[in-house]
Amino acid sequence: MVLVGNPAREPMLTLPFFAAPEGLDPALQEFLDQASQRLCRWFADAEGRGPLPALSVLPAIAPEPSPRSATALLEDLQLVMDGAYRPSHPGALAHLDPPPLTASIAADLICAGLNNNLLAEELAPSLSHLERQLCQWLAQRLGLPSGAGGVPASGGSLSNLMALVVARQRAGLSAEPGAVVLASDEAHVSLDKAVRVMGLRPDGLRRIAVDGDGAMRLDALETALEQLQAEGRPCLAVVATAGTTVRGAIDPLPQLADLCRRRGVWLHVDGAIGAVYALSPDTSAPLEGLDRADSITVNPQKLLGITKTSSLLLVADRRMLVEAFATGLPYMEPAWGDAHGGEQGLQGSRPAEILKLWLGLRQLGETGIRSLLQGALQRRQHLEDRLDPERIQVSSGPLHLLVCRPRIGAPDQVDAWSATTRTRLLEQGFMLSRPFHGGCHPLKAVLGNPHTQSHHLDQLAAMLNRSVLENG
Ligand SMILES: *Cc1c(COP(=O)(O)O)cnc(C)c1O
Repeated sequence: MVLVGNPAREPMLTLPFFAAPEGLDPALQEFLDQASQRLCRWFADAEGRGPLPALSVLPAIAPEPSPRSATALLEDLQLVMDGAYRPSHPGALAHLDPPPLTASIAADLICAGLNNNLLAEELAPSLSHLERQLCQWLAQRLGLPSGAGGVPASGGSLSNLMALVVARQRAGLSAEPGAVVLASDEAHVSLDKAVRVMGLRPDGLRRIAVDGDGAMRLDALETALEQLQAEGRPCLAVVATAGTTVRGAIDPLPQLADLCRRRGVWLHVDGAIGAVYALSPDTSAPLEGLDRADSITVNPQKLLGITKTSSLLLVADRRMLVEAFATGLPYMEPAWGDAHGGEQGLQGSRPAEILKLWLGLRQLGETGIRSLLQGALQRRQHLEDRLDPERIQVSSGPLHLLVCRPRIGAPDQVDAWSATTRTRLLEQGFMLSRPFHGGCHPLKAVLGNPHTQSHHLDQLAAMLNRSVLENG
């Protein structure tokens, strides 16, 4: 065996291109060990640095003429790691990207090693079963009926798109470009993409006004439905948001479910942020009515820390996925279960993303799930309670997100305040974001990071309170 010099540590064996099938491969083991050591060190020094790295150098992009040694590969990797965003920093509060759950990191590694394909059962025998069963378990856990099920997707945007395709198929509107989707003013931009991809008209997504808390107004929805009827345009689906992206508002699910049932319209709940709260009886109250949805998008990557991507589309009647997406897979043996993975959604070949969700939920257990969810809510409350209401106006739904802005100030003054304050906060290791909301750019905090402690939030609140004074 050839040894390649590695001055810093013990000599490293030449890395094989592929793991040997005939016996344990010490070079591969050594390589994976060293890669995971580097990853553990990367976690370990997160707090000493800010969430956003300083300017960093990238290694060479193109392949060298000949294979690169294991040591050189690890050093290249290190450069990329050094320039990466650090979700584990306690001040990483800008977006819906929490630190990764440890079990899901290991599951991601195993997933890559197994390299099974959820396209077809013969390419992923155990994983296809695991996927089907976990989707059914989750669907029922969120209150959907016993025939419910689902399919994983690479992100909530794709889950939403698939939901609307299923809804359209179900409504018999697949050949009707005039069909319309209704969603609130604060619903996610992925719906705009979905109607474009589906070939609907430019006004195929109509936005419904929200109330002061960011929840869809029922009277405005009724008016929009009447209006559609008057125009002779069919409604393809109503999309309720359970946890809006800026302030975590929840649309009135029970009333929307009543209304949709009465009118025979598909109710999709975009619960990319909020649906996980229904996993624990202690936090499920604001999600009342979720169980009456025809379909639900849920993104365990956004709060539970399942490594990206982890999103699922759940449907009350799982046969509808097959109805919408089955094509037959002429190059595969028939499925043993309901249908091949590749016939239940838009994606063909896809990785076993279910593995890290399953292992992550098993690691957390019921108590771990509950404490993650409650912790996020408590942090939002803690921060909100410490912001001076005379100076700062807070807007928040019942979840773990809030936006804030000075109580007094025109939109351009608010924009200037948030730009300056974001920079100052970053210098102190706090990263907030500046969404466009209500005609200006307030500051947004997402309290989904379990490393953020009370003293961090006290410090953040003090800085925010002071920033308003400083701006006059
Ligand atoms: C993030 C988000 C999505 C899209 O999810 P991706 O995984 O980023 O594609 C959809 N809806 C809401 C409400 C979101 O916050």
